[in-house]
Amino acid sequence: MSRLFWFRRDLRLQDNVALNQAVAGAISDGDNQVLPVYALDSSVFESLEGIRQWSLHESLKSLQRSLGGNLSVVLGSPAASLVDAAAKAGVSVVHATRAFDTRGVAEQNAVGLALKDAGIFLQLDDSYYAVAPGSVKKPDGSPYRVYTPFFKNWYQHGWAKPVALAEGAIWRSIDGQTQIPLPTKDSPIKVTASEAFAAQTFERFKHRALENYGDDRNRADLSGTSHLSHALAFGEIHPRTILADLQDSPGEEVFRKEIAWREFYADVLWHNPHTEHDYYEPRFKEMRYDVGPDADAKLLAWQQGKTGFPMVDAGMRQLLATGWMHNRVRMIVASFLIKDLHLEWQLGAEWFERNLSDFDPASNAHGWQWTAGCGTDASPYYRVFNPVLQGYKFDPRGDYIRKYVPELAHIWGPEIHEPWLRLDGLSQGYPSRIVDHATERDESLARLKEIKKD
Ligand code: FAD
Repeated sequence: MSRLFWFRRDLRLQDNVALNQAVAGAISDGDNQVLPVYALDSSVFESLEGIRQWSLHESLKSLQRSLGGNLSVVLGSPAASLVDAAAKAGVSVVHATRAFDTRGVAEQNAVGLALKDAGIFLQLDDSYYAVAPGSVKKPDGSPYRVYTPFFKNWYQHGWAKPVALAEGAIWRSIDGQTQIPLPTKDSPIKVTASEAFAAQTFERFKHRALENYGDDRNRADLSGTSHLSHALAFGEIHPRTILADLQDSPGEEVFRKEIAWREFYADVLWHNPHTEHDYYEPRFKEMRYDVGPDADAKLLAWQQGKTGFPMVDAGMRQLLATGWMHNRVRMIVASFLIKDLHLEWQLGAEWFERNLSDFDPASNAHGWQWTAGCGTDASPYYRVFNPVLQGYKFDPRGDYIRKYVPELAHIWGPEIHEPWLRLDGLSQGYPSRIVDHATERDESLARLKEIKKD
């Protein structure tokens, strides 16, 4: 009997433990046939911005090629469409990688129940992480709230070696269902995404930037990071594959620690599923946040990169132009939204979710909460990023800003960080600052005092 393999955020053939389980099952059943299926919920797809639609489209197209055209794409709710596909194919076991994020868990529970009703078993294996969320605990058995001790224990726990695709599978498709749906929205860039591209990206990073990663990773103007976040979010590469290649040079150690942040946040979300949308530290819910037309206008200016703060605007425009933003700049724009505009972090997280091609529910929610000061391990709330000083430090010549903010391209050198000090600074249509940073910093600290009173 054949096995059905449900591809989720693991769009690859190599180092895919759950896929290997499906292959092994099909071989032991005697016919070696595996039906690879991707379940696309059209309403979710429709709600994504163009970049996200196109990156998923490209990922599926390349997976389709790797499977010799045998990937079936079923539309509708995953529970209904997978039951239908499994029944049509006559399989009794569906295999998939186990998700640990809030939505992924809800989805696999719904699929598992619907399959069970149809007499089909859902077998979940492995995870999207080197160490499955929930595996690393404090000595008293409780989950970690702070990254550094988590990292130490996670590193000690260790992880399995990468595994090659098991041999012997015969891929089979469901008749008439191999068409990859076309995006319904335009994308400003042509996205490249595939398992092979992920492997090349990692190779290039190892040769180009890994050695200096510890120094260069914070510089927005340099290409000092791996750019692997998209591939990790879609599962075109597994973190095991990356970690297996890292030795102990200073750059490699720092890089391993960044991979561990992804694992930490997944662990935190697994233990606290509500924190994808809600405060990890509940008292921050009581803080005063701005709402109303003025707040809406400020949110719009932030989303469009028109706040009048060059480093913030460059980041927000990088997001719209490329579907990606440098980590340091993510922190700067997040701090600005929360502490200069006094808006709730969820508004920013939603905008990131719609636009980031590397969107990851755990890293996004907890990256925001960390910056807001209401998450685990949080940067203290009273630490308010100064967007101008951050610019001088992490884009010293202004190259990053010039790349994304054409209205400031006439300013050479560091002066670009304070265009309002030059006579011609705003002459090319660049907006004036929508707030005064020093005033809003004080306001933000005053609001913090209110919730700290008791
Ligand atoms: P590298 O520096 O090369 O790091 C390698 C990998 O380590 C990354 O691909 C990522 O998987 C992981 N990583 C690095 N830094 C972090 C971090 N701080 N938190 C968690 N994982 C990390 N990352 C996402 O993948 N998806 C998101 O939706 C996301 N949203 C974020 C929102 C905010 C407000 C902040 C501050 C950070 C967010 N991050 C998110 C984390 C980080 O910004 C990106 O992972 C990183 O910029 C991706 O670029 P890279 O692959 O070149 O990173």
